[in-house]
Amino acid sequence: MSSDHADIRPLEIAVSGQAGVDATLQFIGRIQTPFTDRSLCPRQGRPDGPECRIEIFPPWDQALQGIEDYPRIEVLYWLDRSRRDLVVQNPGHSDRTFGTFALRSPVRPNPIGTCMVDLVRVEGNVLVVRSLDCLDGTPLLDIKPDRCAFSPKAAPKPAG
Ligand code: SAM
Repeated sequence: MSSDHADIRPLEIAVSGQAGVDATLQFIGRIQTPFTDRSLCPRQGRPDGPECRIEIFPPWDQALQGIEDYPRIEVLYWLDRSRRDLVVQNPGHSDRTFGTFALRSPVRPNPIGTCMVDLVRVEGNVLVVRSLDCLDGTPLLDIKPDRCAFSPKAAPKPAG
């Protein structure tokens, strides 16, 4: 996948080197969205956004058992086409800069995106959702209910 490493705005600061490499993530699925280009992709998902499909690869599809009870789920994904070396960013090309951790920019040392989405339906190993804001083909890291049956203030849908 390509990234935009050649693009850096005048007030932005990039760094080199890694503090340490000690996490191994596995991509457990892939997200299909209509957003094939950044210019088409919302900066944050909206409940009235288009339906998107989250495909969960075997064997992790078995881990979906019970997910249909939750109207709202949290999705974590890997923003695979982001650069990862900016400590200071200049969103919107203004003269104002922000540290990376003061932003929800996709450009960060570990480009993990999160979204609370509305679960529309489950089709086998695919979750159909609304409110996503990632490019088509974005790798999936994790799925969590907003609160599960064993959390304080558990909120599964009532049966029936
Ligand atoms: N909702 C997530 C969050 O807050 O953690 C992501 C917010 S981020 C501002 C969303 C933007 O990231 C999109 O508008 C798009 O420009 C960019 N983006 C989406 N998918 C990406 C991907 N796979 N790789 C790199 N950038 C991506």
